[in-house]
Amino acid sequence: MLRFECECGNKTAFFATSDYDEHGREVLDLEDDDCVSYEIGEASVMFKCKFCGHRYLLPSFVEFK
Ligand SMILES: [Zn+2]
Repeated sequence: MLRFECECGNKTAFFATSDYDEHGREVLDLEDDDCVSYEIGEASVMFKCKFCGHRYLLPSFVEFK
């Protein structure tokens, strides 16, 4: 559903859980939390590869639609 692949070759994915929130959005869960960790901040989501330590930042956008 949503794939994560680090430059070191480590990869995993988020899969859809069939659980929905009150807005009809399906909840994702991490396939293998030994591969990557993520941290949700106020303005971004940070992903960290657990193999090589490389960190990625996904910034939030004000006009999310
Ligand atoms: Zn990596």
